[in-house]
Amino acid sequence: MMRPLSAPELLTVWEENWQRPPLWQGVALLAAACPDASLTALMATPLGDFHARLLTLHQWHFGPSLTAVTTCPACTGVVEATIDVDSLRQGNDPPATSLEVNHDGAVLTFRLPTTGDLIAVGNAATVEEASLLLAQRCLVATPATLTPAALATASAAMEAADPLALIELSGACPHCGHVWSAILDVTTFVWREVTHWAQRTLQEVHLLARAYGWREDEILRLSPRRRQTYLQMAYG
Ligand SMILES: [Zn+2]
Repeated sequence: MMRPLSAPELLTVWEENWQRPPLWQGVALLAAACPDASLTALMATPLGDFHARLLTLHQWHFGPSLTAVTTCPACTGVVEATIDVDSLRQGNDPPATSLEVNHDGAVLTFRLPTTGDLIAVGNAATVEEASLLLAQRCLVATPATLTPAALATASAAMEAADPLALIELSGACPHCGHVWSAILDVTTFVWREVTHWAQRTLQEVHLLARAYGWREDEILRLSPRRRQTYLQMAYG
């Protein structure tokens, strides 16, 4: 089962993993929040489920919506998008683990890509190459000849079977009306929020320790509300 992390636990995950690649940071967050799950089990989680769990963790710690700031590719205006986590998850039932798709009269049987698969193809030069390598890894029964077209069919079927594995967001620019879509990198997004939170929290610890002489563990035990109130009293 998954549980929210305490402030000291979340700080420890951040401190121990801030230099690691993003996928490992996501694995580390879930390993801390799912103490009963082995690392092997987490790596074998289909990507959609991996993302869903990270989104739940985000909801618990940072609230029900994601705020992404990006630049419009047409007018370079700054665009802020707020995405409701529940709406992302809506209709996303846990997919079957083994799936089939027809290509040119042959049946391709595949399993869903996992975090472990994504880490394994991490060195691919392009997104296209990575998705073909993923498809190759996840086909469990392959026909005698595996053409690039067959791999592309399998790759598309994998994406369709696990919608949260690759989250595409589209919207219109409020400045110029340009419509475009972008991939939401859930792991990078959630880790960035963890980083902002950790920096904010340590700043609060620093200010309260300086004002009152309290220890870090004492300050972290205060609820965010109490911390804010003391900060206001000390610094106005
Ligand atoms: Zn624009």
